[in-house]
Amino acid sequence: MQTSSLSARDMEVIWHPYTQMQTAPAPVGIVRGQGALLFDENNNRYIDATSSWWVNIHGHAHPHIAQQLAAQALELEHCIFAGFTHLPAVQLAERLLPLLPGQRRVFYSDNGSTAVEVALKMAIQYWDNKGTRKHKILAFRNAYHGDTFGAMSVSGRSVFTRVFDDLLFDVHFIEVPTASNIAAIIADIEAQQPTDIAAFIFEPLLQGSGGMVMYDATAFDQLLQYCASQHILLIADEVMTGFGRTGKNFAMEYVSTRPDMICLSKGLTGGTMALGITTSTAAIYEAFLSGDKLKTLFHGHSFTANPLACTAALASLDLFTDPACAANRARIHEKHQRFLTALQQIPVVKNPRLLGTVLAFELVTTGADGYTNALADDLHRFFRAKRIMLRPLGNTLYILPPYCITNEQLDEIYSSIQELTQQLMVSTPT
Ligand SMILES: *Cc1c(COP(=O)(O)O)cnc(C)c1O
Repeated sequence: MQTSSLSARDMEVIWHPYTQMQTAPAPVGIVRGQGALLFDENNNRYIDATSSWWVNIHGHAHPHIAQQLAAQALELEHCIFAGFTHLPAVQLAERLLPLLPGQRRVFYSDNGSTAVEVALKMAIQYWDNKGTRKHKILAFRNAYHGDTFGAMSVSGRSVFTRVFDDLLFDVHFIEVPTASNIAAIIADIEAQQPTDIAAFIFEPLLQGSGGMVMYDATAFDQLLQYCASQHILLIADEVMTGFGRTGKNFAMEYVSTRPDMICLSKGLTGGTMALGITTSTAAIYEAFLSGDKLKTLFHGHSFTANPLACTAALASLDLFTDPACAANRARIHEKHQRFLTALQQIPVVKNPRLLGTVLAFELVTTGADGYTNALADDLHRFFRAKRIMLRPLGNTLYILPPYCITNEQLDEIYSSIQELTQQLMVSTPT
């Protein structure tokens, strides 16, 4: 691939996330985006099949979001959020809370990991404020909740956390529930003394970084009901599942149990600005009200509730609540459904699955399943040459597109995947 000036300059000064800088190919220099397309400095077009790390929902450089942002930037760009407030933050909380089951308060931060950190601190301090120390947290073995230390602690122990494992706090991990293992999971929690467990944090129905794992809503609801009955606080990490990804507006709408806290980020601003939100019920919030200053939630970030980020979120909500958005999501789901049927016929495709707008499957390979599977590099190269932005998790391939993606663009992604599987069948007889 030709080394362009932007990517050459990048390679002199930039250290990229999740990238082995010694062996990674030169990064693609992107100059412009429109809808589900991104354009590089040589004007090649790429289909953004994974919503730019799962954040984009309405397409790139959306005019409605851009115009609202520009107007807000000329009005108020930022302001301290302790002792002061502003319209975008208040309006966003007013509009968002009615969409979230049982939630009454919005606490702002600036990304998904911080939204998780805040929820964990709220949970631990909730119990402390009530006069009980509870240190234990419950999480899924395969979970991903972010890259800061608290968020890493509640994430599954993996190649991402390996170096830091003995620095992470103690978490009891359980399997994702199915009809057949739910009784064993509950018995296992029972054996851990549930009264010592402060909270259970989970990615509802769809575990993203863990390999796009989809799990059963009925068994999940049973698990949540059990935890609620044991006064284990429920933290729904909807950083990835929120804003329509799983078909419903929020994944927690698939179950009857209401969470005590919800974490949001990624699609919150339509993928335009960094913003994190941790919501809570009235009961959580009220446990921090006191004449005693030590019961305060001592947490905040410089860019908490940034007015531009809140404005982007409000503009994104305008688009999200328009019926056209739900119609687009239904259209993508139907297209995916048909492709799923085709995938079921392909021998190198394992466990094809679909939830809302997310389609995923494994490719049968000689190595072990997982993030470090050697096939991943070949897959990156293949799709990059096709000018499709797909970023496999090891040998797990998934499509998670912006909702504005066209049927033609989806078809182009599907046929590139079919071409790939044909190549794999020639090279690795199964
Ligand atoms: C991405 C993600 C996070 C972390 O969000 P960042 O903004 O990347 O820090 C947390 N939880 C889930 C479920 C995520 O997918």
